[in-house]
Amino acid sequence: AAEEDRFVTTHPRSAALAEQARGPLLAGVPMPWMTRWPGRFPVFFESAAGARLVDVDGVEYVDLCLGDTGAMTGHALPQVTAAIAERAGRGITTMLPSADAVWVGEELARRFGLPSWQLAMSATDANRFVLRFARYLTGRPRVAVMDWCYHGTVDETLAVLQGDRVVARPGALGPQVDVAETTAVVPFNDLDALDRRLAVGDVACLLMEPALTNIGIVLPEPGYLEGVREVTRRHGVLLVNDETHTLCAGPGGATVAWGLDPDIVVVGKPIGGGIPCAAYGLSAEVAERLSGPMLGHEIDVAGVGGTLTGNALALAAIRATLSTCLRDEDFALAVPLAERFTAGVSDVIAEHDLPWHVQRLGCRAEYWFCPPPRDGAAAAAAVDEELEGFLHLWCLNRGVLLTPFHNMALFSPHHTEADVDRHTEVFGEAVAALTS
Ligand code: PLP
Repeated sequence: AAEEDRFVTTHPRSAALAEQARGPLLAGVPMPWMTRWPGRFPVFFESAAGARLVDVDGVEYVDLCLGDTGAMTGHALPQVTAAIAERAGRGITTMLPSADAVWVGEELARRFGLPSWQLAMSATDANRFVLRFARYLTGRPRVAVMDWCYHGTVDETLAVLQGDRVVARPGALGPQVDVAETTAVVPFNDLDALDRRLAVGDVACLLMEPALTNIGIVLPEPGYLEGVREVTRRHGVLLVNDETHTLCAGPGGATVAWGLDPDIVVVGKPIGGGIPCAAYGLSAEVAERLSGPMLGHEIDVAGVGGTLTGNALALAAIRATLSTCLRDEDFALAVPLAERFTAGVSDVIAEHDLPWHVQRLGCRAEYWFCPPPRDGAAAAAAVDEELEGFLHLWCLNRGVLLTPFHNMALFSPHHTEADVDRHTEVFGEAVAALTS
């Protein structure tokens, strides 16, 4: 309560806007996830550049949330904003491809080793399109996902295991589909369970993150992902790596960092420097089976794509972002910062003899209040919203912005060691306050 009161006192302009917003905006926000910030209202942001964010009260933050990966590059990089402005001045939406589309396809193919690409408006969108293609190609009805996954607002994926039953994710808003009919759910890091479930023969594709990142970071055990590839191939199930968040593992995501061989890769949020867009890449075999029917109009494309999809602004933004950010040299700057964060936080935890742990994937890291869980259900059980909320507000009140869920920290090449150390310092003060 003291941290909340402090926040309200130091953010009068955000407080006033939050009050005003309750009239015209449902729940006072333009988008439901924005109600998930700890405290009575979210900060209203004014501007962001590089690794810094400034709110409407003029308070400056080290931004470790980076738009929950949407700004993994750092904010408003001049070369990206210049390319966006230049393209906007020449027209955006035409229902025709621009030359940037070819550059983007070639670059994504080079990075991810999959030859054929399509655009989407968001990772949610891309995942929905991929499910349709997978059903078309296999003639099978179901998607398999990991227990406690998140792949955007795709109805079929908002499912969890309850014993052996597949049920809608607790609290999922008015399920649109009967997930017991559309979805198979398996625990992460359990190959036998995957093998047993896929043997039923009704699954079109397995949609997974190579590491879970949406119930905290849960890393794959040694050999698990290789086993997943073998099992999916043996059962004729397409393997889809959703790299929307795991792009933090490197320029080609976990797919390249860990030498994986999926049939389809989905990339989203960060690739367009903040402009809404996503893309999905297809293996040569999948592309060959789709290309003919698409060109021959045998596929009813009403199920995929959209008027604004693949617009020239998104393509220019992706080109500028991939040509100047999210490259090997950028990760070479960002990853050591995440390592420094991990070391600093681990020292604080050890000093106070707590059972907490830090988990890191590339340039992103996060603290657990227990030993790192092995699967989604264990991760969900370990969530302590009260403690997370306290730590989030504590850091926010001292100029450090973490993600509102699971207190994750993401590093861009524009952060500094001093930024990392500032977090470690305020984290240490929070732990001292909690344990005193
Ligand atoms: N896939 C993964 C792994 C995600 O983490 C998310 C969002 O957090 C999505 C897909 C959906 O992305 P978007 O909300 O941009 O559609």
